[in-house]
Amino acid sequence: MSEEPFTRALSYPVDNRKVPMTDSATTPTTTQDPAHGHVNTGRPRVVIIGSGFGGLFAARKFDGEDVDVTLISSTGYHLFQPLLYQVATGILSEGLIAPAAREVLAKQKNVEVAFGTVHDINLAEQTVTANTLTIETTYDYDSLIVAAGAGQSYFGHDEFAEFAPGMKSIDDALELRARIFGAFELAELAAASGRTEDLPRLMTFVVVGAGPTGVEMAGQIAELSARTLPRDFRHIASENAHIILLDGADQVLGGFGTRLGKKAQRRLESMGIDVRLGAMVTDVDANGIEYRTKDGSTERVPALTKVWAAGVQASSLGKTLSEQTGTELDRSGRLKVNPDLTLPGHPNVFVVGDMISLDNLPGVAQVAIQGGKFAAKQILHRLKGEPTDQRFHYFDKGSMATISRFSAVASVGKLRMSGFLAWVMWLAVHLWYIIGFKSQITTFFHWAVSFLGRSRGERTATQQQLFARGALDKLGAEYQPRVEMGAGRPVPARHTEAKAEVAEG
Ligand SMILES: Cc1cc2nc3c(=O)[nH]c(=O)nc-3n(C[C@H](O)[C@H](O)[C@H](O)COP(=O)(O)OP(=O)(O)OC[C@H]3O[C@@H](n4cnc5c(N)ncnc54)[C@H](O)[C@@H]3O)c2cc1C
Repeated sequence: MSEEPFTRALSYPVDNRKVPMTDSATTPTTTQDPAHGHVNTGRPRVVIIGSGFGGLFAARKFDGEDVDVTLISSTGYHLFQPLLYQVATGILSEGLIAPAAREVLAKQKNVEVAFGTVHDINLAEQTVTANTLTIETTYDYDSLIVAAGAGQSYFGHDEFAEFAPGMKSIDDALELRARIFGAFELAELAAASGRTEDLPRLMTFVVVGAGPTGVEMAGQIAELSARTLPRDFRHIASENAHIILLDGADQVLGGFGTRLGKKAQRRLESMGIDVRLGAMVTDVDANGIEYRTKDGSTERVPALTKVWAAGVQASSLGKTLSEQTGTELDRSGRLKVNPDLTLPGHPNVFVVGDMISLDNLPGVAQVAIQGGKFAAKQILHRLKGEPTDQRFHYFDKGSMATISRFSAVASVGKLRMSGFLAWVMWLAVHLWYIIGFKSQITTFFHWAVSFLGRSRGERTATQQQLFARGALDKLGAEYQPRVEMGAGRPVPARHTEAKAEVAEG
């Protein structure tokens, strides 16, 4: 069969107006610039990049205003990252923490949502170019809000990712779910067939990074092994799983102060978690992890399952903007923006959330939410000829992290709390910020099942979740899925060779 129809790339202008399925369309009152991806209504145009906390809350601020907003997102959904670890450990389904941005903004008629990955921002031309599979679309803007967030950093060792997935995306969480539950399955098989020498490696789980994500992840693997799984297995005692939490720093939860950090560590240790501090990871492979201790010696831990919860690297769009303006980037690739969140020399371009380096603001949801709202407000002030604010003021609402069911730490203003009360606060705050009443109710129900009872309703893991990373690596960087209109499903360009390579691998 000829490959030609499958490999033909699509390239066409996108018109987001609703068009009838027949040719009898009435003459539109708006015009479509064939080069650009949105309808020209003559109103000021705001483009927002990202549907995370910064982008979504910015878009909402334009509700009912006399502007046209295009929100471009590479995921198409709004991801509530703080609960990713609950997807990875079988408490919540991915849909509950990632509603479609299109649905969230459906009632806001002046917002168009576009699914695509922005690869270029041209500040001189005031355009943004995005790819959706092989379809390239250019959007022009009068004002731009860049809220593309951050990804995982392996501190120059990206090769670790294959063996220690991060915790930044739904893909990461589902892959980790498959790896965690899969490790217990392999341990059961090994025990059933008498290969007990394999058990320590199969039943050791190493979490790298003792910030909130690492602490929450380690705590949940511990609860899973001690409360949920013991009655499910016949040959292993899942409660004997060895969970190690590693960090190069001297304390867990560094951002919470020494007292709360110590309390959290004591609680983790009381759950049987092996906390190893001052440990710098030097190597990760399929069967284990190596780290250097403070005295300079190197230790190796045999472990099938590793989770990387350390380090962030801002979106590469920061570099694109830096190259065009000379704006400095910090070590994590974050842009040193003006105090009013604008890009130096470009008062119509705002950068918010995890992409900015300003006043030592932390990479947390509230910085992104407040930044997104602030940027939108500034744009509206300007359009209405009103004075703008000179500086973004962040209001710190506090930080929280759960350790296990019924136990959390919270730092709110001068208040430091730990234990049950902090946990209830954590539940309430996170429930409040989950988008959609239906998701809030369902999440509450799932929590009741997992925290009051013992079971977890979201343990399903597919082979695709487990092996997709390896398969994509085999396909190589040049792999571009292509879509033929009418074919109904993406077909890989190098379909035949790729399949053969994966099978061989
Ligand atoms: C596991 C985890 C747990 C966390 N826990 C907490 C917590 O408990 N409390 C807290 O306050 N914070 C927490 N955070 C941090 C918080 O989630 C982030 O600070 C926040 O999400 C930043 O918002 P943002 O809008 O800058 O970026 P994001 O929310 O990451 O959104 C970025 C958006 O940009 C899109 N995007 C990226 N690149 C492109 C591109 N090239 N083109 C188009 N779209 C693009 C993405 O699809 C996404 O929609 C946690 C983070 C993680 C990863």
